[in-house]
Amino acid sequence: MLSYQHHYHAGNPADVHKHALLAWMLDYLVQKDKPMTYIETHAGRGLYDLGDEAALKTGEAAQGVGKYEPCFPDDHPYRQRLNETRFKYGPLAYPGSPLVAAMSLRESDTIHLAELHPAEHVILSEHLTQWEAHIHRQDGFKLAQAICPPTPRRGLALIDPSYEVKADYDSIPKELANIARKWNVGILALWYPLLTSGSHGAMLGQLMAQFPEALRHEVRFGPVREGHRMIGSGMFIVNPPYGIADEAARLTRIFKA
Ligand code: SAM
Repeated sequence: MLSYQHHYHAGNPADVHKHALLAWMLDYLVQKDKPMTYIETHAGRGLYDLGDEAALKTGEAAQGVGKYEPCFPDDHPYRQRLNETRFKYGPLAYPGSPLVAAMSLRESDTIHLAELHPAEHVILSEHLTQWEAHIHRQDGFKLAQAICPPTPRRGLALIDPSYEVKADYDSIPKELANIARKWNVGILALWYPLLTSGSHGAMLGQLMAQFPEALRHEVRFGPVREGHRMIGSGMFIVNPPYGIADEAARLTRIFKA
């Protein structure tokens, strides 16, 4: 089932949380003069227009990047990626995670992106032409299994499923364990929603038992629309990079304020 389309939700509070942590981690990783690999299992289209009909219909970006961006300092890597995107693509452009990554990384780094939806895959390929990214129309977990451990071995994978079916919550701990077994030095960042139904609870319990050293960071923001079931955003990070606890604390303060 591929009915989820991220352009209705781009720039929402969950994107701010996820993209701010991603931009910070990549900025940290590129400080070291050693090439790295970035893998994304569920990439989306990479670049969004917050003025398009879908975005305006939900109004989620106003509740997200519209509200929280001023809380980040000017030199924060997330804010820098936002500014670079607007400079390049126009004032209403918003970077998806593949673009956040492409703009953060260096020529010596390797990017693998998986997007299964045929139309989103085409748009993603168009948006990323300027970068030499490997763009796969393939199931993201299968791709990660096939290429891990990647070359270069140092790096990060973002796992950002759309959780369209409840079975995703059951299968993800096993998928993550399989990737971690093959790539034991990789930073693995899994995004998950905090839902009024609590459907994410059992998955998290399992993940924490599997990866007791991982970082779990959650922010709450209330429903973006009446009746919306998502009331917060979580990131579960295996092999968290040094210093991320301080960045997570900053995000906690931003979302509380
Ligand atoms: N990571 C993106 C970002 O932050 O900009 C948003 C990704 S969106 C939440 C999830 C995407 O995964 C959708 O575009 C959907 O078409 C795609 N997708 C769904 N199932 C997939 C699968 N099994 N493998 C790869 N992509 C998949």
